[in-house]
Amino acid sequence: QEVGIADIGLIGLAVMGQNLILNMNDHGFVVCAYNRTKEKVTHFLENEAKGTKIVGAYSVQELCMKLKSPRKVMMLVKAGPAVDAFIKDLLEYLEEGDIIIDGGNSHYPDTIRRTKEVNGGKDEDKKDKKDKDVTVKEIFQAISAKVDGEPCCDYVGQDGAGHFVKMVHNGIEYGDMQMICEAYHILKETLGLSADELSDIFTEWNKGELDSYLIEITRDILKFKDTDGSPLVEHIKDTAGQKGTGKWTVVSALDTGSPVTLIGEAVFARCLSAIKSERVQASKILPGPNVKFTGDKKQFIHDVSKALYASKIISYAQGFMLMREAAKENNWKLNYSGIALMWRGGCIIRSVFLGDIKNAYTKNPELENLLFDPFFTKAVSEATPGWRNVVSQAALQGIPAPALSAALAFYDGYRHAVLPANLLQAQRDYFGAHTYQRLDNDAWVHTNWTGRG
Ligand code: NAP
Repeated sequence: QEVGIADIGLIGLAVMGQNLILNMNDHGFVVCAYNRTKEKVTHFLENEAKGTKIVGAYSVQELCMKLKSPRKVMMLVKAGPAVDAFIKDLLEYLEEGDIIIDGGNSHYPDTIRRTKEVNGGKDEDKKDKKDKDVTVKEIFQAISAKVDGEPCCDYVGQDGAGHFVKMVHNGIEYGDMQMICEAYHILKETLGLSADELSDIFTEWNKGELDSYLIEITRDILKFKDTDGSPLVEHIKDTAGQKGTGKWTVVSALDTGSPVTLIGEAVFARCLSAIKSERVQASKILPGPNVKFTGDKKQFIHDVSKALYASKIISYAQGFMLMREAAKENNWKLNYSGIALMWRGGCIIRSVFLGDIKNAYTKNPELENLLFDPFFTKAVSEATPGWRNVVSQAALQGIPAPALSAALAFYDGYRHAVLPANLLQAQRDYFGAHTYQRLDNDAWVHTNWTGRG
């Protein structure tokens, strides 16, 4: 048996694991591959990994033996009990100073718990952490996407910080996708455009401020033809699936009291899409308006792009609000410009727009809200006329636009110095004697609203 030959071990030979191993190998690192189902190790070594420096292991013990010290083991397995089980196995063979990396989409509270368990409740030595960071960093930054020569990969923070930020990334991904779907729906129903025409619009959009991976794949999807030559997208059942990271983002928003309304609507839109048979029933009995669009087509297409852009700004502003709150609660020191850079390339939400977010947080790391950055204040205010037009047209024509309209409602709520929560506080005090605070002297008081005792 060869001992101490591999730079890193990787557990989990599904899509993610295999790709990462091959990528690491391409960058000159020796990887040892392991998987619960052993046949997959053999299959991988004899096929995808044939002729590479990749080695395999058929037990956790063998995997740990083959690693150089300090050992680095990365798991890319299904989130949940599998991660706990592997950590338990690994701890039998790892030593102090070795590193376990959970590369899957684990729920961040699990990571906080696991970090405590693995470190035996003691806080990690900072210097030790830094040293470890460098070696893992070397591998990860070598294999990561680069934008302007900078790697889109960095150390995010302690315990669950990394998984938290990845979760928010996925939540934002839900939002971005939903907004694009609403733009597609509105354009299709309002202007009666074909999939090809829609694809051409997305092609144009991808050349400007909306330039992003998701706009790009939407362009390609809309052009894609089924065997009979018709657009494939029109043959796909309109019921959305989800794996849970969007929901976790919204739950965490509710827990921290952060108004992450757009991602919330995106998750609910998927839920609504999933109850197809109920919708089919409703479509037969619940009437909608019979309003025809009479405006200028070209202008309206431009307005939809503005609605999309402005809503996207709101969604990212909300996502960063959530990260700030969670960072406070969990004592994480999140680097927001670094996070924007990490998302700038190599991931699903990658876009030119994230470069502008990075610039905003580089200029002012303490920026309270993205909307306070001059670039975004201007961008959002310039987009408002088109955005308002699209949201009202959608409402008038009965086309659902939950994300675009929730974003606009947030924007209008956020820019109101005075909201009707004065009345709400009065109601709470009326029925529950919850007291309210007076504007003139800040005093908390209760009023006997009915005059009864
Ligand atoms: P996956 O389908 O999530 O998981 C399959 C892997 O997990 C296999 O190696 C499987 O081993 C192992 N596994 C599952 N249950 C296990 C258990 N109870 N005990 C031990 N091993 C178990 O794989 P994936 O799609 O490559 O994703 C891996 C991780 O990356 C996940 O956390 C996922 O959320 C995350 N991720 C995935 C994507 C994506 O696009 N696919 C993107 C980003 C992140 P066997 O072969 O023995 O079944």
